[in-house]
Amino acid sequence: MSLSVVNNYINGEFVQSDSAQFGDVWNPATGEKIATVPYGTKADVDRAVKAARDAYPEWRETPPLTRARYLFRLKDAFEENFEEIAETLTIEQGKVIDEARGEVRRMIENVEHATGVTTLMCGYTLEDIAKGIDCYGHRQPMGVFAAIVPYNFPGMVAWWFLPYALVTGNTFIVKPSEQVPMTQTKIFEIIDDIGFPEGVVNMVHGAKDVVNGLLDHPDIKGISFVGSTPTAQYIYKRCGETGKRVQALGGAKNIVAVMPDADLDQGLPSLVSSFYGCAGQRCLAGAVLAPVGDIADELKDKFVASAKQIKVGNGLDEQTAMGPLGNAGHKERVLGFIEKGIAEGADLVLDGRDCIVEDYPNGFFVGPTFFDKVTPDMSIAGEEIFGPVVSMVRAKDLDDVIDLVNTRRYANASCIYTSSGRAAREFKYRVNPSMVGINIGVAAPMSFFPFGGYGNSMFGDIKAHGQEIFQFFTDTKVVIERWF
Ligand code: NAD
Repeated sequence: MSLSVVNNYINGEFVQSDSAQFGDVWNPATGEKIATVPYGTKADVDRAVKAARDAYPEWRETPPLTRARYLFRLKDAFEENFEEIAETLTIEQGKVIDEARGEVRRMIENVEHATGVTTLMCGYTLEDIAKGIDCYGHRQPMGVFAAIVPYNFPGMVAWWFLPYALVTGNTFIVKPSEQVPMTQTKIFEIIDDIGFPEGVVNMVHGAKDVVNGLLDHPDIKGISFVGSTPTAQYIYKRCGETGKRVQALGGAKNIVAVMPDADLDQGLPSLVSSFYGCAGQRCLAGAVLAPVGDIADELKDKFVASAKQIKVGNGLDEQTAMGPLGNAGHKERVLGFIEKGIAEGADLVLDGRDCIVEDYPNGFFVGPTFFDKVTPDMSIAGEEIFGPVVSMVRAKDLDDVIDLVNTRRYANASCIYTSSGRAAREFKYRVNPSMVGINIGVAAPMSFFPFGGYGNSMFGDIKAHGQEIFQFFTDTKVVIERWF
């Protein structure tokens, strides 16, 4: 059977890449190849940038409310195609269908938020900054922007940026992850039906060559990136060299603190799913479980008992609670970390290495895994594993756990489970990560709040979505005016 090849979307139509290099797209639950993705070229990028640049002058002059109306139509179309997008997402990424639905919902929420452009893009004015002189700050679009996105959220992440760029009057290019190109391709089929003016929104598939083509192109004004920390650092540096605006969101190692007064009966389900949801492949996933004081043993017993109940399988099955890892290479990487944890002397309480899933012998599965007696200096307490592996680091007191959070090289998110307002206040005040959950295991800001971390988890100063994103996609032009 010949596999379908995903195509680029440039200047209002699907077009083939002229690349001679292709990669495979896998269904991680079945271990089967399901499509072929072109590793696009600099020429593909040049074509997309030209289309976007040519479309820009007219799009810029289109009134913001008219631009927003395209998004209203898009929202309706996404709702109509909701299940199909979610299914495509599960098939190529592996996450369970309910989680995929949640991702599509969050994607749509960004479309909804962006339609507030007529308020959120407004500048500000002040009369009489000197006698008879008035001053205005207008927010103006800048031209062509692009997003480079990761494999773990094939639908949503590009939409942390795309609707805001378009609605503020810029034109746009998306480069999906080459591991999961089908979801965004499905989304662009829907975009195609909406009938945006040609060239306003484009997509180029590929890997490094496409990324470098975008980073080096003189007509690209800014880059939004989400992915691992080494790539984020590279993108940030290269954008600095070429003078582009940049927001580069990187990896994570999130600590979940559990105080002795935590209500485990209420909190346990969200605690457990914080670590194992999406098989640990979320930038907001719990990675280090840090019980404080004498709750540790009770927490371990209840947590592990609950983890053992998790049904691992194909995400399309509604009964499945945890799907596979995204690809075979990543499975090997996660297994490598489990070996490392054992070698470093941590106590492997629950071992997910030989996870057998009935009917899916070739899937990239690793079962729920739990290490106790992890110390802060071990690699499994510091490096991003990005899999269903819990590293439990016992902390003495609140100061000790805050110190643990603030000595990780990442600072994306952290959470605390407690019944004490004082402990919660102290924690949220002092920890470095910029997304904090209190009795919430996954502290995911919604589209109207900013998303992004600190330290090695985020390079740049304007985060994804929220009100700030309107600044990223606009330049404030200040006019100082006097009439004689
Ligand atoms: P990745 O860095 O490997 O890839 C991300 C994107 O960069 C892809 O489109 C890929 O094609 C491109 N890329 C990869 N290597 C490159 C290179 N050497 N040169 C140029 N381009 C390159 O990340 P991933 O494995 O797809 O995603 C998982 C990572 O993303 C994890 O570290 C996770 O924590 C992070 N992530 C962070 C957030 C956040 O909000 N901070 C959200 C989602 C994922």
